[in-house]
Amino acid sequence: MLKISKELCIGCGICEDSCPFGAIETIDGLAVAGDSCTLCGACVESCEVEAIRLDIEQAPKQDDFASWTGVWIFCEFRRGELAPVSLELLGIGRSLADKRGVQLSAVLLGHGLGETASRLIGHGADNVYVCDDDAFKNFREDIFSTVTASLIREHKPEIVLAGATAIGRSFIPGVATELGAGLTADCTQLEIRESDGALLQTRPAFGGNIMATIVCETSRPQMATVRPKVMLERAFDEQRTGEIIQISPTVEQLQSRVRIVESVVSEATNVNIQEADILVSGGRGLESAKGFELIRQLADVMDANISASRAVVDAGWIPYAHQVGQTGKTVAPKLYIACGISGAIQHVAGMQSAETIVAINRDKNATIFTIADYGIVGDIFEIVPKLINKIEERRKQ
Ligand SMILES: Cc1cc2nc3c(=O)[nH]c(=O)nc-3n(C[C@H](O)[C@H](O)[C@H](O)COP(=O)(O)OP(=O)(O)OC[C@H]3O[C@@H](n4cnc5c(N)ncnc54)[C@H](O)[C@@H]3O)c2cc1C
Repeated sequence: MLKISKELCIGCGICEDSCPFGAIETIDGLAVAGDSCTLCGACVESCEVEAIRLDIEQAPKQDDFASWTGVWIFCEFRRGELAPVSLELLGIGRSLADKRGVQLSAVLLGHGLGETASRLIGHGADNVYVCDDDAFKNFREDIFSTVTASLIREHKPEIVLAGATAIGRSFIPGVATELGAGLTADCTQLEIRESDGALLQTRPAFGGNIMATIVCETSRPQMATVRPKVMLERAFDEQRTGEIIQISPTVEQLQSRVRIVESVVSEATNVNIQEADILVSGGRGLESAKGFELIRQLADVMDANISASRAVVDAGWIPYAHQVGQTGKTVAPKLYIACGISGAIQHVAGMQSAETIVAINRDKNATIFTIADYGIVGDIFEIVPKLINKIEERRKQ
């Protein structure tokens, strides 16, 4: 809890400036913290008159740590397909489980699952808790949360990971709440601390300016979501064997308060820049929606997909599904061509894993050049049309 002493506060406003979340206001000569306060403590550090105090109650440590064992991956299955992030999570899950010397389990809830459970074993799972039921055909938060939380309560895994996808982000916080566990969202790195086996969960913080490592020291399970395309999946090994465990949720657990009236696939969800081999990405340097057409032309001649910086999405030149970065998607194409993008840290966080990065920017000092494999300093409106002509010429040969 943040406590601001009325007696000591001099209304200088320094804490207001220091708050990264804009949560403090100086009203009538006194600092006042609003609802967006995250208890980060930046204001406490900044206050020269020591008027601000942060009282954090340390939760008592759970006394049955030793009975929680194993690493679990929630594997997402939607519209007849396994979400690729599930295999990426099995990749990191396998190495965490091996370091802990425990089993790696997958949880697979869906309808029409076919051979998916065996596939998960080939990609690293020791066993798969599976339920193929009509109730899981459409995503309904309450059913997915109840069944997953009940499985976790029964089997007590020490680590639970899910994809930071729309589905993972939607229901995993509910599972964590039901279990009274913590949850670190959007992790980019996961490691085991050797001294006590705790999960070190690293994620960008403060607008991507620092990486924070979060440790859950007082309770189990340790829960985290991981963004797609951050972890590497293991190659399928058909020799691997494992156990497929059929689970049978109760009728009550499959009761939903949600009634699906209609399911409509929006155009935006059909855009999957995360699976693209080549991305031509446009930034504010394209100046307007009309200027952005140049990106489409370049992408067309290269059989590439289109992506964009947040500035472009915010300007409404292209839908959000195309946004790359911290608050957009993480991509790892073979080739990423950044046109008129400055290379802000929040953008780079989403594309630095691309195999080859080409940047076109008229500012030779633009940050994007520090991570580019090839840089072209110049005006996009001159360079891109030339590039398009060259590619078309080559294609005709
Ligand atoms: C919490 C938070 C989350 C964020 N999440 C994201 C995110 O997910 N993704 C993201 O992209 N951003 C994100 N941002 C915003 C980010 O900080 C930058 O503001 C944004 O990436 C800038 O987009 P840009 O590079 O297109 O624009 P600018 O930074 O304005 O850069 C435009 C570039 O184009 C160049 N240029 C201009 N005209 C030309 C020309 N004719 N020819 C060649 N070059 C030209 C300029 O030199 C400049 O380098 C986030 C910010 C915050 C605070």
